[in-house]
Amino acid sequence: MPDLNLYNTLSRKKEVFKPLNEGKVGMYVCGPTVYGDAHLGHARPGITFDVVFRYMQHLGYKTRYVRNITDVGHLVNDADEGEDKIAKKARLDQLEPMEVVAFYTRSYHKDMAMLNTLPPSIEPTATGHIIEQIAMIEKILANGYAYEVDGNVYFDVVKYNEDHAYGKLSGRNIDDMISNTRDLEGQSEKRNSVDFALWKKASPEHIMRWPSPWSEGFPGWHLECSAMSTKYLGARFDIHGGGMDLVFPHHEAEIAQSCASDGHEAVNYWMHNNMITINGQKMGKSLGNFITLSEFFSGEHDKLEQAYNPMTIRFFILQAHYRSTVDFSNEALLAAEKGMTKLMAALETLEGIQVSEDSTVNVEDYKKKFYESINDDFNTPILIAHLFDAVKQINSIAAGKGSLNKSSKEELTQLLSDFCFDILGLKKLAVEAQDGLADDVMEVVLGLRKIAKENKDWTTADFIRDELGKLNITVKDSKEGAIWTKE
Ligand code: ZN
Repeated sequence: MPDLNLYNTLSRKKEVFKPLNEGKVGMYVCGPTVYGDAHLGHARPGITFDVVFRYMQHLGYKTRYVRNITDVGHLVNDADEGEDKIAKKARLDQLEPMEVVAFYTRSYHKDMAMLNTLPPSIEPTATGHIIEQIAMIEKILANGYAYEVDGNVYFDVVKYNEDHAYGKLSGRNIDDMISNTRDLEGQSEKRNSVDFALWKKASPEHIMRWPSPWSEGFPGWHLECSAMSTKYLGARFDIHGGGMDLVFPHHEAEIAQSCASDGHEAVNYWMHNNMITINGQKMGKSLGNFITLSEFFSGEHDKLEQAYNPMTIRFFILQAHYRSTVDFSNEALLAAEKGMTKLMAALETLEGIQVSEDSTVNVEDYKKKFYESINDDFNTPILIAHLFDAVKQINSIAAGKGSLNKSSKEELTQLLSDFCFDILGLKKLAVEAQDGLADDVMEVVLGLRKIAKENKDWTTADFIRDELGKLNITVKDSKEGAIWTKE
């Protein structure tokens, strides 16, 4: 099997993946700031790093996947100014900040489950790790890379840059950054406009506040990820992921914080997924193209022509390489839905193919191609193209062109199941999605079973129940008649 190659944002090239500890992988991914409904911008990193998590486990690595929930410190403006995003939402909706957090965390979990992403191993929150963040600030202060002004603590980017290279992840140059940063009002207490907050003193009206050696206040947004990744994965770990929009300033600041507190970098491989546009435009509330995931699932949005199955969204996202942009449109989603249906139908067809003595299928060749594509920096579009080569061959065999023997059929079934379900995380589309047709057909089938039972034809009745069972449809008899459910 070829080595797994990952594109490292820091080195700007593909590198062979070697875990720090044999047989184990530690991965940290920046999660959502929970002040609104999840949208496509959340689905992409959710699915991208879910596939990484699934594949690492498929390769046999004991994988610890940490994805945080930001519930404090992310200000409306990335330059440390303005209201806290969660506090603002709480003020507008007249709720406690933690009510906002609880509500949108639950909603995020529900949407991620619909997309069939596995829950992370640990999901720490920023408010749950104030002590660790304060301890990290103390270390950075002790090492001389931060300073306090009137209860606020700032990271001294210029001082840090004398000893380390600030800007190496994003490729930015500190002099350009300084000349490009406007000195916003209220930032004058910073030594340099590029410095960022590690701790902010809370204004009298600010609700979310904690005691600290400097003031009653709250941590800076970038700090939580450094503190929590160190706590759960150690001062050095394998993979740090997130969206490309986080490279600067968030991840650049994380690198600086780790080096300033521990003297070395924390992350071996930086992975970043690209962004999603809608009909060629950046998604934004002002453009009227801001579509939440639950709106995609229900179809209730002006820009949507129909409701989309969560698996269609997942399949659509996986049809592009995670480092490429993806453009959503109704046409593209409909095409993805067709492709997904065709793939799932071929798996059913394969199940029904009668085996013969000979096989015209080279399962080893498929296996090689599947692994080669996923090992090439998670090239899911190429993997899906190879899956469709298999679909084509399965359909030809079903049409009488070619054959499968028992072992080839078993191996091909296993291989496709590993890649479609375990690694890509796809699920069979539910039959209920087909406009009530399933309900009508089931009524006929259960009617036949009822007649068979009335005639004491137990063979037929049991046959119907067992065959439905194979389709994960459970039939239960009740006083009102038979009830069916599909898993
Ligand atoms: Zn983060």
